[in-house]
Amino acid sequence: MRVVLLGALALASALAGTPAGPAVAQASADCAQPRQALGVSRVVEIDGQGSARFGHQQYKDHDFLADGEVVLTFDDGPLRAYTQPVLDALKAHCTLATFFMVGRMAVADPELVREIARRGHTVGTHTWTHANLRSMGPAQAQREIELGFSAVRRAAGRPIAPFFRFPYLADTKAMLAHLATRDIAVFSIDADANDYRTEDPAAVHAAIIGQLTHKRKGILLFHDIQPSTARALRGLLDELKRRGFRVVHLVAKGEARTLPDEDRIAERAIGEKRSAAATSPLAKRSVVWPVQPLPEPVRTDLPPLPPAGPVARVRPPPREERWQDTIFRN
Ligand SMILES: [Zn+2]
Repeated sequence: MRVVLLGALALASALAGTPAGPAVAQASADCAQPRQALGVSRVVEIDGQGSARFGHQQYKDHDFLADGEVVLTFDDGPLRAYTQPVLDALKAHCTLATFFMVGRMAVADPELVREIARRGHTVGTHTWTHANLRSMGPAQAQREIELGFSAVRRAAGRPIAPFFRFPYLADTKAMLAHLATRDIAVFSIDADANDYRTEDPAAVHAAIIGQLTHKRKGILLFHDIQPSTARALRGLLDELKRRGFRVVHLVAKGEARTLPDEDRIAERAIGEKRSAAATSPLAKRSVVWPVQPLPEPVRTDLPPLPPAGPVARVRPPPREERWQDTIFRN
């Protein structure tokens, strides 16, 4: 495992040739008030080879942040209603974040996944269905992880980072070992917005500022499916700037390598979503994805998959976000 630290002065040359490079330049150009913006003070390139684990709530192995430095991370999305204001707040501050996306959320809105990547944010993953991997056997847990990578990679239409965060931060020894063999870096957290507990943006603001007053730095956890974070973020970034905090942007040294069987399943899931969107405009807006067990592994010795049928919904929830609230936490 190797962590490469890049100073701000080296930013332009260091990012040349990486997906984040042009977007960083564009973000700066678009920034209306650069002097009041957080921007990106430093880029840290993560080499996930071997066992790379970060975030002091669980892992004490490495500390790449200096006093006053924060990393912005957003889990569980994308979900357009709340991800869009999050992107707007980040753009207003000319700053960049890391999004740990859920596979089935990504295939529900591939256009938004591509928009996030196009803006220069780093895209990692958070399993296929946001399952608690401690509640299942290693084979199924492994498939949750791998299908998550395939789905987000396929939705993005470009390489993504080999960055992973466990749902509920519920890691297991077996999956940590698996991720190490796949050269995937694991991210825990240092501070939690607790945004899934509240709809009040002031509570999110207070949670982060309170923890940072004590810790002075860290990897910050938000959820871009939560209205409280969507409403709080702009003001919170203003406050971080006022208090002299600096944003560190994480980039990957290499790209996530996906597995062919899971790629085929992900491709089929995206195809099903597309065909559903073509026949029913509502499907395009919906984040409701069939609640079903993981699909059986695709066997390469069988004939090609039949054409995808319409997406079956189990139960339309009264509100999209309420469904999210009950399903997703960390
Ligand atoms: Zn989560």
